[in-house]
Amino acid sequence: MAIIALRGITRRFASTEALAPVDLTVEDGRFVALVGPSGCGKSTLLRLVAGLDRPTAGTVSVDGRPVDRPGPERGVVFQQPALFPWLDVAANIRFGLDEAGMPRAEADRRVADWIDAVGLQGFERALPAQLSGGMAQRAALARALAPAPGTLLLDEPFGALDRITRNEMQDLLVRVRQATPATVLLVTHDVEEAVYLADRVIVLSPRPGRIVADLTVELPARRIRTDPGFVATRVRVEDALGAAMA
Ligand code: ADP
Ligand code: MG
Repeated sequence: MAIIALRGITRRFASTEALAPVDLTVEDGRFVALVGPSGCGKSTLLRLVAGLDRPTAGTVSVDGRPVDRPGPERGVVFQQPALFPWLDVAANIRFGLDEAGMPRAEADRRVADWIDAVGLQGFERALPAQLSGGMAQRAALARALAPAPGTLLLDEPFGALDRITRNEMQDLLVRVRQATPATVLLVTHDVEEAVYLADRVIVLSPRPGRIVADLTVELPARRIRTDPGFVATRVRVEDALGAAMA
């Protein structure tokens, strides 16, 4: 597992200041959710940690190493499953393992394990276009996690799914994380999702995004959305988000 550190991060696109200086440390093995109004720079921040973009100022490091490109040690899942459309499910999950030079037999085993872990048995040879949205996200999650990355970066990964499928995917994420511990940074606009999954919820202001609240979620690992403690935490985050937008 990994430690993510952002120091004095800003990002400007021409005249748009997307991120104000942001300082954030995500400790080893933590699950941090990032919430904030649309356009406040959440995806920008996540892309910087993924190494898909560079900050205008400041530094991003993972385990003390500056991030300057994507890498299999940082798995990424976006809202739209970024699967290779010409590769079947098994080949998509395999992709990062081949890149990492994993021996063939071991990669075969790892792919089979992940197909099972995300419930895609029987769809190994299916192409992404033949999958439902939820199945495609299962494959995307398996692809991101198969190389056992220290960091998992999720940008509204379940945002396009219906409520029932989204809840199933949240439980799937909880399960696979027990088997494959990773430090997680999750961008979501769904406060309930943030409180269901995270140990800590960071609230960003409207653009340019800066951290306006940093809330610890003091709930048991297995959460029930209707429990009074859960509801109280959800309201606390909603209040912080409301205050940020006021
Ligand atoms: P969020 O994910 O919180 O909705 P984003 O990080 O996607 O917000 O965007 C933050 C701001 O930066 C928005 O105003 C968006 O239009 C702008 N932005 C993001 N990426 C680019 C880009 N590549 N070029 C120009 N502007 C961008
Ligand atoms: Mg976004």
